Amino acid sequence: MTEHVKDDDADVIVVGAGPSGATTAYYLAQAGLTVLLLEKARFPREKVCGDGLTPRAVKTLIAMGVDVGPGSGWLRNKGLRVIGAGMRLELPWPELDSYPGYGLVRTRASLDETLARRAQAAGVKLLEGVTVTGPVLDDAGQIAGVTARAEASAGTGSGHSERDRSSTQTFRARVVVAADGNSSRLSVAMGLRRRDDRPLGVAVRTYYTSPRHDDDYLESWLDLWDGDRLLPGYGWIFGMGDGTSNVGLGLLNTSDAFGNTDYRELLKRWLRSMPEEWGYVEENRTEPVRGAALPMGFNRTPHYYRGLLLAGDAAGMVNPFNGEGIAYAMESGEILARTIAQALARPDREQAERVLRGYPQALAETYGGYYALGRLFVQLIGRPQLMRFATRHGMARPALMRFALKLLANLTDPRGGDAADRVINGMTRLAPNPR
Ligand SMILES: Cc1cc2nc3c(=O)[nH]c(=O)nc-3n(C[C@H](O)[C@H](O)[C@H](O)COP(=O)(O)OP(=O)(O)OC[C@H]3O[C@@H](n4cnc5c(N)ncnc54)[C@H](O)[C@@H]3O)c2cc1C
Repeated sequence: MTEHVKDDDADVIVVGAGPSGATTAYYLAQAGLTVLLLEKARFPREKVCGDGLTPRAVKTLIAMGVDVGPGSGWLRNKGLRVIGAGMRLELPWPELDSYPGYGLVRTRASLDETLARRAQAAGVKLLEGVTVTGPVLDDAGQIAGVTARAEASAGTGSGHSERDRSSTQTFRARVVVAADGNSSRLSVAMGLRRRDDRPLGVAVRTYYTSPRHDDDYLESWLDLWDGDRLLPGYGWIFGMGDGTSNVGLGLLNTSDAFGNTDYRELLKRWLRSMPEEWGYVEENRTEPVRGAALPMGFNRTPHYYRGLLLAGDAAGMVNPFNGEGIAYAMESGEILARTIAQALARPDREQAERVLRGYPQALAETYGGYYALGRLFVQLIGRPQLMRFATRHGMARPALMRFALKLLANLTDPRGGDAADRVINGMTRLAPNPR
């Protein structure tokens, strides 16, 4: 970490204003720090996603003061409908003290802008249309700021003056956060690559106008076949409540099929098996089919390196059990902001450094055991016979599937709770916990 100098542009620079960056910035501003949030796109902007939010994500939205009440434009869901092995199960979200009993759906264009505006309202200076091009290093090789290129018409989106139209600019701060998503160019520029020994998913999705647009369950299909091979992953159908469904599928890198599957073709084939009246046919498609990677189970570490702190997809925070990333992006953003606020309140640089070094430890304590189980899970379901066995036997046992829902969606009460909660919490505590 660098010494505080008077010409810093902010206490903290956050790169990327997706869910992790906006949340980090929001909590930093709430703690009284000055924050510069740099975003290459302009809101509203698209992000390839399933747009599904579990109760875990809903909790993070409520904590940030986002209005999720009736009439505020969100489609609520009651649980997860699972389809597989010729069966169909509706599993309501568990009743817990720690999480609300419902999920939500909303387009990322709208969700991400809502979060970014919450950060702005808390006092964050958001610059849209500003692409970070690299780190600025101090003499010790620690990150001390970033270089950035502003789009020709880049304004602040919040009534601030127009930025220099062409030049590359330098921004300095005491701390820099990489919340720039799965590719995290900033982390890579600092020497932090993805770990090959950690899970990765790839998913594609598109939208169709459909009578199923207001489905009050998230729907997940476990039977994705490539010839006679059952693939490790699932297909989803999430009603958007706006006349369309978000339809997509994702696979894990633990199977042979991962690198040699035509995902778009697989999606087409899967959709051909759907009833025609659902409307998932070419004429009803409203968007191109787009895909992206899901970095899972801490697949980029260390989370604090040469002064740079990582959050969300940049830190490989997606849940390996179910591909959910928004809740973890926001949660890691909050943990990170609280760590930085404590660090910058310390009287000298050494002490601040000590606090920042605690961030990877805090993430490991919160998610390490669970992600270790998740890594084991993706290894197991990468074997087609095991995947087939699990689907067939699980689907025939609703009680087991209710347990699986709690495990896969990471929804338990940490204290008290029922027997399932205690088993899952116990497994998580006992799992080996490498960072
Ligand atoms: C097909 C698919 C379906 C998914 N479905 C779901 C789902 O249903 N539910 C769920 O919870 N999760 C889902 N996920 C995962 C989820 O999308 C991510 O985990 C989540 O977006 C991570 O948030 P983030 O803020 O870390 O990164 P991002 O959302 O990727 O945000 C990163 C931001 O950084 C900006 N940025 C990047 N580089 C720069 C730069 N150089 N300078 C300035 N800004 C930059 C980007 O423009 C972007 O705004 C899905 C992912 C995929 C690929």
